[in-house]
Amino acid sequence: MELRRWADRALAEVERWRAEFGGFAEHPSLAVDDAEFGAALDELVRRLRDDHPFHHPRYLAQMVKPPHPAAIVGYLAAMRLNPNNHSLDGGPATSRMEREVTEQLAGMFGMPGALGHLTSSGTIANLESLYVAREIHPGAAVAVSADAHFTHARMCHLLGVRAVPVPVDGAGRMDVDALEALLHEENIGTVVVTAGTTGLGALDPIPEVLALRGEHGFRVHVDAAYGGFFALIADGGADGVAAEPFDAIASCDSVVVDPHKHGLQPYGCGAVLFADPEVARFYRHDSPYTYFTSDELHLGEISLECSRSGAAAAALWLTFQVLPPTPEGLGEVLRPGRRAALEWTRLLAASTSLTAYQQPELDIIAALPNTAEMSTMDGRVAAAMHRGMSAAPDESMHIATLSVTSADLAARGHAVRADTGTARIFRSVLMKPEHEHWVPRAHDELERLIAEP
Ligand SMILES: *Cc1c(COP(=O)(O)O)cnc(C)c1O
Repeated sequence: MELRRWADRALAEVERWRAEFGGFAEHPSLAVDDAEFGAALDELVRRLRDDHPFHHPRYLAQMVKPPHPAAIVGYLAAMRLNPNNHSLDGGPATSRMEREVTEQLAGMFGMPGALGHLTSSGTIANLESLYVAREIHPGAAVAVSADAHFTHARMCHLLGVRAVPVPVDGAGRMDVDALEALLHEENIGTVVVTAGTTGLGALDPIPEVLALRGEHGFRVHVDAAYGGFFALIADGGADGVAAEPFDAIASCDSVVVDPHKHGLQPYGCGAVLFADPEVARFYRHDSPYTYFTSDELHLGEISLECSRSGAAAAALWLTFQVLPPTPEGLGEVLRPGRRAALEWTRLLAASTSLTAYQQPELDIIAALPNTAEMSTMDGRVAAAMHRGMSAAPDESMHIATLSVTSADLAARGHAVRADTGTARIFRSVLMKPEHEHWVPRAHDELERLIAEP
């Protein structure tokens, strides 16, 4: 898609609609001198050069990538008006789009009729789920895996709820036996399971957790902020991911997914869904100034946030028109990254200088250099990462690290002498489809970087 052509067309169309209301003189206080603006823009572009090349397959570090052109065009068109999806008065058109995309997301998880909305982030979406969980089980604690996103503990603290960590097994998944033992000791109101941990993309055993729900009566909240869209390729096939954890989401109480991670959106787009629409009662409030033109339910009545970007809903809506959340649509955008992770794991198995940390469950891989002790490993990983990032742009390699303990290494059968408590290993998020064809080259470059003294 040619971004500039479609962006021009979108702005021209919006201008036409604006003009239907008749011309008016723009206030002189808003006037900006062309030369002054040009200089400021030059400075902005110069400063942006300090960013990492998130668009390029050379960047295979964190979960960051530019939005799809469809999302940019949709965002730009709506932002020209700047609707506020807090209420139908602030953004009637984009609120309807938000309803539609929310239904599509609910369909993706097999949760028809779910109550949900977009949020400004996964953190806020998880906060809403934990808030509802607290209202339903006041005084009870939240159990969350040791490898879950760090914001769960932070948000529990904010809500005045105790967060109890559950250990992980040798693959970074919640240890269900440990959870079961905990359930006998503590009053656990909610178990947070992660479908795709941020560090390793591990999938917690959601069906096994659900099996304990009958006896103990807790809520199950799924943090699928990163991994949620993998539901589209959860077919257990050669380039798919495990079906069971994703199929089980339909039976959980709430789920969070971040369209600004694998949904091709700009930042400012998370989402939360509740299986039981009755939870709307926990959001009830009266506002004398925001709701006045409609008796319909406003998104602001089922959201903790007030102002929210209508443009974010328009961007996701337009993206879903052309790349819907179906196996044939967005699913085909996720498969190549999955293949990239599997291919890199095969290359690591054949390498004499690097070893895969564990088998990837999604599109995130981790690898360690073959060294005798942890301190050497840490030093070599850090040096290789810095050399890769500071090379000339067209020779650079941008990879991330993951801090692991000697116990983490031992749990995966890596015999490395523990002369320090923690060490960094390589971590790579292969979330751009272009990574599929880049991986052999990235593997060679990483082997070269690690071989340099
Ligand atoms: C990214 C992430 C979050 C936090 O979401 P933000 O959109 O960054 O606020 C929470 N949980 C998981 C598993 C994540 O990967």
